[in-house]
Amino acid sequence: MKRARIVVAGGGPVGLAFACASAGSEITVIEASPARRAMEGGFDLRVFAVSPGSRAFLRELGAWDLLDAKRIAAVKRMEVSGGGGSDLRFAAPAGGALAWIVEAGAIAAALEARASRIPGVTILRDTAATAFGASASGSWAELASGKRVEGDLLVGADGPDSPVRAAIGLAAEERPYSETAVVANFETQRDPQGLARQWFREDGVLAWLPLPGRRISIVWSAPTAIADELSALDPERLAERVRDAGGAALGDLRLDSGVARFPLRSIRVPRPVAPGVALIGDAAHAVHPLAGQGVNLGFQDARRLAEILGSRPPLERPGDFALLRRYARSRREDVGGMHQVTDGLDRLFSRPGPRAAAIRNAGLRVVDRTPWVKRFLASRAVR
Ligand SMILES: Cc1cc2nc3c(=O)[nH]c(=O)nc-3n(C[C@H](O)[C@H](O)[C@H](O)COP(=O)(O)OP(=O)(O)OC[C@H]3O[C@@H](n4cnc5c(N)ncnc54)[C@H](O)[C@@H]3O)c2cc1C
Repeated sequence: MKRARIVVAGGGPVGLAFACASAGSEITVIEASPARRAMEGGFDLRVFAVSPGSRAFLRELGAWDLLDAKRIAAVKRMEVSGGGGSDLRFAAPAGGALAWIVEAGAIAAALEARASRIPGVTILRDTAATAFGASASGSWAELASGKRVEGDLLVGADGPDSPVRAAIGLAAEERPYSETAVVANFETQRDPQGLARQWFREDGVLAWLPLPGRRISIVWSAPTAIADELSALDPERLAERVRDAGGAALGDLRLDSGVARFPLRSIRVPRPVAPGVALIGDAAHAVHPLAGQGVNLGFQDARRLAEILGSRPPLERPGDFALLRRYARSRREDVGGMHQVTDGLDRLFSRPGPRAAAIRNAGLRVVDRTPWVKRFLASRAVR
C-alpha cells in the first residue's frame, strides 16, 4: 500500500499524538507557536487529568516514559461534594490510579520528542497555516510564507477555534457557558496524598487536583462576575478564598503560580469529517472541564483515526469520505455521551437556590449508594 501523506494543522497534544500513532505515513505537522521551553522549578499552570486509557495510549506511543515521574501525581481517590453534606467517593483499585495529573506542556514536549524521531514525520514550528483545501483526491494547507503543503488527507487538530473547520465549512454548534475557569497552583500546608476534590458550590465548581508534594492545581469554574472578582484578588486574599471554599481541607494555601482565566464554551461538531479532511481534539468538540476529559477525548480521536487509516483496504484512499465517516461514527457515542454528562451536570449545578441544591444532594446520595451507577460513572471517567 502507498504511504499516506497527511497534513496535520495544529501541533498541540492531540495533533502530536496523532503524528506518533501514524508511524508509516508521511506526516507534516504545522504548528503556529514557537518551540517549547522545558519547565523547571514551578509547575505548569495548565495540567491535564490523564485517564488510564490515555496513559496506556501515551505509553504505547513511547511518550509516557519520557515524562519526569517526579512531576506527576497519581489520583488515588476522589471526593465530589454537592455542598449539603452529601459526598460521592471514588477510590482506585489497589495499586492503580483514577487518573494522573500531568503538566500540559510536559505531555506536548514528550509527544513532540517522540514524533520528531519517527522517520517520515516533519514538524514545522512557528509556522501558521493560513488557507486550506480538501477533496477525496487531495488536500492542502497554505503557510503564511505562501508555500503549499499537499497530502492525501488534511487533519484539523487546530483547537477549539479551528481554522480548518471554518475554511472547509464544517458546521459547529457553539454555546458559551456563563462561566469562566480560573486556574492556579498553590502550596498547601498538608500533603493532598493523591486525593482529588471537587465541590459543586453556589459560586461555581471548584476542583483541587493533587500535584506532587504539598501542592495542588485548582480549576474554579465560576460565573464570570465571580471569576473576575477572584482573578483581581491579591495572592493572599485569593489563597484565603480558595482555602475557605474547600473547607481548609489542606490547611493554609500559598499561591505558587500566576492566575489564568479561560472562558468556557461547549462546541459540538455534528459532522467532523468531509472528503479529504477530518477533525480531532478540541477542533471536533469542546466540553466543560468539570469532568477533566477534553484532552482524553482528543487522544482517543487520534488513536481511532490512526487505526482506521492504518487498516484501510489497499484500494481505499486516506481522503475517502466512507473511510472518514467510519472514524466519525466510531467516536460519536463517546463524544456525545461526554457532552451530555458535562452539560447536564453544568445545568444542574449552575442553578442557584436551595431547591436546586436539595435536588443535587439527593442525586449525589442516590449515586453514592447505587453501585452500578458509580461503576458506570467511574468507567466513563477512566476511558
Ligand atoms: C481550564 C481548563 C482545564 C482543563 N483541564 C483538562 C483536564 O484536566 N483533562 C483534560 O483531558 N482536558 C482538560 N481540558 C481540555 C484540554 O485543555 C483540551 O481538550 C486540549 O488542550 C485539546 O488539545 P488539542 O491538541 O485538541 O488543542 P489545543 O491544545 O488547542 O492545540 C491546538 C494547536 O493548534 C495550533 N494552531 C491553531 N491554529 C493554527 C494554524 N492556523 N496553523 C498552525 N497551528 C495552529 C495552536 O497553536 C495549538 O498549539 C481543560 C480545558 C480548560 C479550559
